[in-house]
Amino acid sequence: MDEKIYLDNAATTYVSGEVLNEMLPCFNTIYGNSSSVHKFGREAIGIVDRARDRIANVINAEKSNEIYFTSGGTEANNWAIKGIASANRDKGNHIITSSIEHDSVLASCKCLEKLGFKITYLPVDQHGLVSIADLMHQIKKETILISIMSVNNEIGTIQNIKAIAKTAHESGIIFHTDATQALGNLMINVQDMEIDVMTMSAHKVYGPKGVGALYIKNGIKIDNLIDGGSQERGKRGGTLNVPAIAGFGKAVEIAGRDLSVNQQKLKAIRTYFLEKVTEKIPYIHLNGHAQQKVQSIVNLAFEMIEGESILMLLDLDGISVSTGSACASGSTELSHVLKAIGLDEELARGSIRFSFGKSITKAKVDYVIEKLVSAVEKLRNISPLTKTGRAKKQDNKK
Ligand code: PMP
Repeated sequence: MDEKIYLDNAATTYVSGEVLNEMLPCFNTIYGNSSSVHKFGREAIGIVDRARDRIANVINAEKSNEIYFTSGGTEANNWAIKGIASANRDKGNHIITSSIEHDSVLASCKCLEKLGFKITYLPVDQHGLVSIADLMHQIKKETILISIMSVNNEIGTIQNIKAIAKTAHESGIIFHTDATQALGNLMINVQDMEIDVMTMSAHKVYGPKGVGALYIKNGIKIDNLIDGGSQERGKRGGTLNVPAIAGFGKAVEIAGRDLSVNQQKLKAIRTYFLEKVTEKIPYIHLNGHAQQKVQSIVNLAFEMIEGESILMLLDLDGISVSTGSACASGSTELSHVLKAIGLDEELARGSIRFSFGKSITKAKVDYVIEKLVSAVEKLRNISPLTKTGRAKKQDNKK
């Protein structure tokens, strides 16, 4: 197979043709500043308003003016955590989040700790789930915010968002969720799920990089992160990136439109991939939840070998996968998510994330399986761990 096979869609996706077509005129035809009052400006604001409507519609926001554009998921998470903390400080200084959040949430919380806020990082079980009982136990009268991601980017586990939101609201606490990996993978209904504030990003759903949004339910108290002009109703300064916003709106509209078709396809692909891989490769484990997970992410731990080595061998065969999240890969630190679900160092280092996207086919999966089987065999043949230990031990047990 000459083709390159991209299995790193949780890191980012390509920009789809429909999205690109939506964006192109905004570079050199409809290029006004959306804050200008003349015709060029009005055309640009028309594009922005349409994107806002499309996103509000897909997530079932009550009003489109509850969508605020940002430079991506990272900014939206920073804004949610820091903005809510600062605006509600008179009520308390305690925030609850989980230990498997994206770095943009964890680092924002660390930053608040320096300012005197107290943060509780909830543990998760072996499948990556936060326990509601644990959460209830940690709520104090000073708790002002609960922030729990909808879907984990490394292992794909889906949290019980509605139950978490209800728990927050029973104690009058604001609930934020980072839905960066949920958009396009799950039906999101902010009203039904009782979400107050929600992070989104375009480049995980076939939109461009560097644009995202924060859904802020009207009435939620939140301070600005980026001060400037009157853009985004005075809540987020900076000239709007109209082409990116146009693409984001289109990408979300398509994600909503094609959700069930895409999910059916990915479910079949995932089931087939897992069946074949477990049949052909011994000593592997599925990281994450077997049922409560998105179809697009499969994270596997391979005993006795390093994930980095598998990644490099697959790369030579034109297959792109990742170890952990894109932001953390390249670092020698163990994934905080794999640590939190209780993996020992060997399994955490032996883990690979395969994240499937729209262009996957059964033929591509067959090729990936063939190359994966051979990479694992090759590496296990030369692995010092094979000789000293576990494989032999397990064999003896049989
Ligand atoms: N949250 C999660 C769960 C993510 O996976 C990512 C992207 N890796 C982000 C936030 C950050 O989004 P962005 O890349 O748009 O800044």
